[in-house]
Amino acid sequence: MARLYGPGDVQLTREAAPSSGPGEVLLEVTAVGLCGSDLHWYRRGGIGDAGLIRPLVLGHEFGGVILAGPRAGERVAADPADPCGRCEPCRRGRTNICIAPRFAGFGTTDGALRSVMPWPSHLLHRVPDAIADDEVALLEPLGVALHALDLAPIAVGARAGVYGCGPLGLLLVQLLRARGASVIVATDRLAHRVAAARALGATHGFVVSAEPDDPAAVGGEARDVPVDVAFEVAGDDAAIADAIAAVKPGGRVALVGIPDDDRSSFPAAAARRKELSFHVCRRMAQTDLPRAIAVAEAGQVDLSALITHRFPLGDASDAFAMLASRHGRKVVVNPALPASDRP
Ligand SMILES: [Zn+2]
Ligand SMILES: [Zn+2]
Repeated sequence: MARLYGPGDVQLTREAAPSSGPGEVLLEVTAVGLCGSDLHWYRRGGIGDAGLIRPLVLGHEFGGVILAGPRAGERVAADPADPCGRCEPCRRGRTNICIAPRFAGFGTTDGALRSVMPWPSHLLHRVPDAIADDEVALLEPLGVALHALDLAPIAVGARAGVYGCGPLGLLLVQLLRARGASVIVATDRLAHRVAAARALGATHGFVVSAEPDDPAAVGGEARDVPVDVAFEVAGDDAAIADAIAAVKPGGRVALVGIPDDDRSSFPAAAARRKELSFHVCRRMAQTDLPRAIAVAEAGQVDLSALITHRFPLGDASDAFAMLASRHGRKVVVNPALPASDRP
């Protein structure tokens, strides 16, 4: 398996085969997507206010084949969140804001960058043949995108903006197109991501600056295209400022990105003048993964277009380096692939 020991330090380890606990099954992991949140872990050994407690196996966007038991042989996508089921948010059905969840690849819960892992059977959802093995790794981010759209819904024909076009932003662009948005603005600092957003349905694409304090440089024309609903998916203040500038008075901004230093700030006067609503997005609700499977099976989003790189588990360290280079879109690790013979 591939463990993160510290910033930039991913090591392959040989460990005893895992056993499954009550309610769990063993899963042969076939595909793991690396996420922007994994990049936080990789770069600084933590995310938000959480840090490494011990060397951690990352990987929360994953699927595979169940190895034994009544569901043996079933292809599944995993919900990486295992809520406690007892806290007040859980009892209200708001399991994504459970106060004591287990989450694959977080805290002391090892994630999926390994060949075989135990995971609760009820969190493994059957995947139809129409969804390819690697695409299964994109179902969790698609679920998060669906959740974000629930938090900031748009009417058919309305105008929306996606500020930050990594894989999650590109999924939102596709969902907004499927939802019938008349205008979809897409921005990113990276030109190749803006091009991908245009190819996947954005009506306007802008390459933007990362400098939140330079009004001339930030956003540029992106701010001049008004939207009803704005999704900030970059995790930086410049993207939040662009979203605030573009959204119409009384509009809503969904904050989906994760900032590097656990701080976000925004131009208060503009937000106040427009009396904007902000909605902070946390992972996905329990019903979102089955919905993501249905959306993907219906062909409403193109998941394969998002996958640009594949690595065997033995090259996990290279996979993280590729993620950090931000040259691609989704980087997928295939634990079942034999390691390359690169030195
Ligand atoms: Zn993720
Ligand atoms: Zn709970």
